[in-house]
Amino acid sequence: MSRPDLAPSRSTAIFAASEEHFPGGVNSPVRAFRAVGTHPVVVCEGRGAHLTDADGRRLLDYVGSWGAAILGHADPEVTEALCAAAHRGTGFGMPTPYELDLARAIRDAMPSLQRLRFVNSGTEAVMSALRAARGFTGRDLIVKFAGCYHGHADYLLAQAGSGLATFGLPSSAGVPGAAAAQTLVAPYNDLDAFRAILGAHPRRVAAVIVEPVAANMGVVPPRPGFLEGLRELTRADGALLVFDEVITGFRLGRGGAQGRFGIAPDLTCLGKIVGGGLPVGVYGGRREIMERVAPLGPVYQAGTLSGNPLTMAAGTATLRRLTDDAYAGLEARAARLAEGLAEAARRAGATATVVREASMLTVFFLPRAPRDYAEAGAADVARYARFFRGMLDRGVLLPPSQFEAWFVSAAHTDDDVAATLAAAGDAFRAAA
Ligand code: PMP
Repeated sequence: MSRPDLAPSRSTAIFAASEEHFPGGVNSPVRAFRAVGTHPVVVCEGRGAHLTDADGRRLLDYVGSWGAAILGHADPEVTEALCAAAHRGTGFGMPTPYELDLARAIRDAMPSLQRLRFVNSGTEAVMSALRAARGFTGRDLIVKFAGCYHGHADYLLAQAGSGLATFGLPSSAGVPGAAAAQTLVAPYNDLDAFRAILGAHPRRVAAVIVEPVAANMGVVPPRPGFLEGLRELTRADGALLVFDEVITGFRLGRGGAQGRFGIAPDLTCLGKIVGGGLPVGVYGGRREIMERVAPLGPVYQAGTLSGNPLTMAAGTATLRRLTDDAYAGLEARAARLAEGLAEAARRAGATATVVREASMLTVFFLPRAPRDYAEAGAADVARYARFFRGMLDRGVLLPPSQFEAWFVSAAHTDDDVAATLAAAGDAFRAAA
């Protein structure tokens, strides 16, 4: 999509200079805003639900560091915990009490993580979990679902959501065929297709990985029975069920998707919220699987900065704030936002469907809610781009792609929701 020449500003100058240093001017592709036909927001500060860009413009933020910022930006308690930890040293590469505190908070909320490991990103969590799954089962094949994104490990970049959905890439260049051949892809929400794949490769699948509520093709919840079916079929075959809760963990509630739906996976991946805004990943699950990991077992996995004290302190402070009341507030505000957006679209005569799960939602420019990647892919992305720009002009930052979730944080107020709905009424009309 061609991009307009914007009036010279500090933001455009910083971005132009950044293009001389980073591919596309960014350190993660979707930040380039190419799918929405404009230049990126260059952020200098975040406080609560708002960002301030390099030109001093204040924006109401629904990206929320891609879901990590569930308390909003620069939460005072988290910042205080972070500063206190930093004064005692930023990392030792040794065991610390900080990592024990965060592990206890996670296990308390998600008992299926009988043993866990901290790593430094969601990508690393998934890679490590699947290595453990392969090491434990002695099998090689992985099944994933189209439109689910699990980070950028070679063998998971097949029909992945998020940036690949945004840029319309079926997979990535630079991935050896042999790596991709180990991954089988089924449509999301299609238990029959999954059963057929498992039936075609009996006792050869190490793990099935799924976003229990998909958020990387836009928000697509599981149909009733889908996750339960995955649990039954994997158990019968001896394949491991891996929930990628990098987004849903501590987002859908303290117990994540596994708590919400009452299903215990064999392994779980976490990230984002549990790091309190700092780089983090977690993988964990059944004790006998995790005890195959070095130094107890032969599955090697390590990390110089893993369990970093700053991350652990910020994560623990964040989880402490996520009380039942906090989740009730998030749910209520997100529900009001979703209902108001649907109403604003209807009044504007826009063909749009709002899909919400807890405090994450997507406005799909589609007549009905998609059930899988193929249906999500039919959305009118040109209209989304116009809507996005209309909202940005009115001071509201949405995810710069149709295929990402909006995240409501505990810092969004009723007034913020009202301001968003007022802007959306105009932006829907302008996008029509
Ligand atoms: N899994 C899911 C479900 C994700 O949404 C993401 C990133 N958005 C990842 C894994 C990868 O995490 P990271 O970007 O931290 O590597």
